Amino acid sequence: MIPSVLPTYSRAPMTFVKGEGVWLIEEDGRRFLDLGAGIAVNVLGHANPVLTDALKTQADALWHLSNLYQIPAQQELADRLTEATFADTVFFTNSGTEACELAVKMARKYWSDLGEDRAEIVAFTGAFHGRSSAAIAASGAEKMVKGFGPLLPGFTQVPFGDHDALRAAVTDKTCAVLIEPVQGEGGIIPVPDQCLKGLRDLCDETGALLIFDEVQCGVGRTGKLFAHEWAGVAPDIMMVAKGIGGGFPLGAVLATEKAASGMTLGTHGSTYGGNPLACAVGNAVMATVADEAFLAEVNRKAGLLRQKLEGLVAAHPDVFEGVRGTGLMIGLKCKLPNTDVVQAGFDHEVIVVPAADNVVRLLPPLNITDDEIAEAIQRLDKAAASMKVAA
Ligand SMILES: *Cc1c(COP(=O)(O)O)cnc(C)c1O
Repeated sequence: MIPSVLPTYSRAPMTFVKGEGVWLIEEDGRRFLDLGAGIAVNVLGHANPVLTDALKTQADALWHLSNLYQIPAQQELADRLTEATFADTVFFTNSGTEACELAVKMARKYWSDLGEDRAEIVAFTGAFHGRSSAAIAASGAEKMVKGFGPLLPGFTQVPFGDHDALRAAVTDKTCAVLIEPVQGEGGIIPVPDQCLKGLRDLCDETGALLIFDEVQCGVGRTGKLFAHEWAGVAPDIMMVAKGIGGGFPLGAVLATEKAASGMTLGTHGSTYGGNPLACAVGNAVMATVADEAFLAEVNRKAGLLRQKLEGLVAAHPDVFEGVRGTGLMIGLKCKLPNTDVVQAGFDHEVIVVPAADNVVRLLPPLNITDDEIAEAIQRLDKAAASMKVAA
């Protein structure tokens, strides 16, 4: 008999009833150190009082309002995002997938309004952009698209890191190039700064719009507010979600005035997108994360964690192959199956998340403390040691 919850997820057997900062707690009081943060979502930890207070205050005043009316919290968050980034304008969604949908629509509408037949979107192998028809077509991965055809047409995938294939794929039919500056689900693979620069140049040469998917790598995760800032290049359109709501469902599409020019009155909408609750929390997240001192701390702690992880890998060469990633978006490439490493972590009350390419991901809350980093390493060390005994 089919479970009452549609079984599309393989779920770990823990049942958490409470969160506190970087900790997740079961009914019987068993405490897990959460280095997954809901897959890069809980950027300020669980049950952060700054965020829960913002939510409660807004809930007591007004918790839903249609986009047919003025929403001050939404206006404020849009102003914060445009002030802090390349973007001139923002549309709020409830998820990364919805942000992908709009990014694709926006890019196509831009060219359509110019009267040009340019609808092709070039994306990359190993990419993840969500689970809607557009998002799975963009990824192209067999496990995501199989059985769901006919797929939304107009997407091609270039092998990640293949410059020649990219040059060949981007033509005068290309409306946009879509890329994660750091692949998340693909196994924590940063795009080198030089490649992002080259991609920007290629888009400028051909006129194609450049879309960055910063759903996972954005909002302070890499030690800059957005990951592309490291490369010193800006996209035309950017997808944001996950961290921006700190755990409350919120996403956004940020765009330049030019790229957004086709999205005129009535061309897009959302019932819940940009609702007062989500934006109240988003403002609280931005007020904390979009701050030089906060980001400097992220970088310092990222350096500390990275150094300790290098030690962990060196101590367990039969479990781990290496460390990669940027900021607090870190992948441990495993020699043993990554799902076994995740399980060994659970057994030692530390949570990490699997990714493709036999990687486990560490995406801790950005406000994790030095002591918690030390504790995380101890637990991972015990978990790795237990695997050696078993092997
Ligand atoms: C999670 C993710 C998405 C999809 O976001 P949802 O909120 O799950 O719809 C899109 N792109 C990237 C890079 C992601 O990590």
